[in-house]
Amino acid sequence: MTAHVLPDTSSASGRRFGAAELERLAEVIESGCLNRAMGGTQTANFEQEFADLIGAEHCVAASSGTAALHLAVAAVNPNPGDEIITTGLTDAGTLLPILSQNAIPVFADVEPDSGNLDPESVRSKITERTRAIMVVHLMGVPAKVEELREIADEHGILLIEDAAQAYLTRTRSGRWAGTVGHIGCFSLQQSKHISTGDGGLTVTDDPALARHMRLFMDKAWPRDTGERTHLFLGLNYRMTELAAAVGRAQLGRLEQVVADRKASAERMLTVVNSIEGLSGADPEGTSWWNFPVFVDRRDGRPDAFAWSEALKAHGLYTAPGYIRMPLYRTPLIAEAKTYGSSGFPIADVLDSYAEGSCPVTEELITHGGLFIVMWNENYTDEDLDFIAGALRAAAADLGVPGEVPCP
Ligand SMILES: *Cc1c(COP(=O)(O)O)cnc(C)c1O
Repeated sequence: MTAHVLPDTSSASGRRFGAAELERLAEVIESGCLNRAMGGTQTANFEQEFADLIGAEHCVAASSGTAALHLAVAAVNPNPGDEIITTGLTDAGTLLPILSQNAIPVFADVEPDSGNLDPESVRSKITERTRAIMVVHLMGVPAKVEELREIADEHGILLIEDAAQAYLTRTRSGRWAGTVGHIGCFSLQQSKHISTGDGGLTVTDDPALARHMRLFMDKAWPRDTGERTHLFLGLNYRMTELAAAVGRAQLGRLEQVVADRKASAERMLTVVNSIEGLSGADPEGTSWWNFPVFVDRRDGRPDAFAWSEALKAHGLYTAPGYIRMPLYRTPLIAEAKTYGSSGFPIADVLDSYAEGSCPVTEELITHGGLFIVMWNENYTDEDLDFIAGALRAAAADLGVPGEVPCP
């Protein structure tokens, strides 16, 4: 028996690149200008097209999703030692810009049925030094950004939405993820809904934040004034014209990519939700970057590690916990591996990152409460049957009672 191979985002099997991308790339090559600061027009057009698509006033492109998040934190302009509240259940790209701007990451806990920040936990972490909240729409499941925006406004701080996994995710108020907070950030890395290999986008309705981010992205060099000077500490996070060309073509595919992911994920949801101890995410507004499965391991039921092993035996590879440990338990934070041997700016608050500090985060990551099934816009009926079959076989192996239906 040959193993069933699912489409995946690391190859053409699970990506939609084609003639539209090639055509735009040819335009750039033929123009002879691959750089936006020296006259290229693709990146500026890409920014405008993305802003129009999600209904934001301003968009600034950058070289990665992490860079996009760095623009956002730079726009918060924290003093060293100011605090930014975020989640320990996310890609490191959410966290790194906080430390890069010398701010202290403060971890709030998440909700057990989504893995997204719990607004009450966020509220309990606010201090006089809090400058911003960075929320993640994990796997494309909408976070409670309306509540978080209220909390932010109450305290006069900024809400940054990390929507790297949440293109065309609908939040509860009916807005696109990334447009409820003061700033929204997206990634165009290879595995995201749409891709330029690497790349990032930030959006905002605030012209002052937009200007700060645009400057930070380009050495804080105010090219619009014609003056060669540097207004503050910035970096070179420019997107190349080649990436922007691909991005513009990818935008044309986004709606269908999300529609296809939704259709297949919602079919799989009926399968997963029928299995004792497993539940999928609320599909309302979800754009399914990947497919999270929440595991109730109480009363001796199998945990996510057991499920993951059993599924692997039937050819389906999953990621228990999504990441290996909460971000606050990685050496970067737990051992303050930041600047030289200074431990700055977290050396004095290491106790706040101890094991046990965010119990729900740890239940999901460390204790087997969550596993992730990779999702893809190119899944066929056969692919869905294969995934359901692996779940059925794993359930049987694990002695989980009940019938597992077809997708
Ligand atoms: C992918 C991702 C990032 C980082 O994006 P890169 O483009 O890889 O730098 C940040 N946050 C989340 C939630 C992500 O999924």
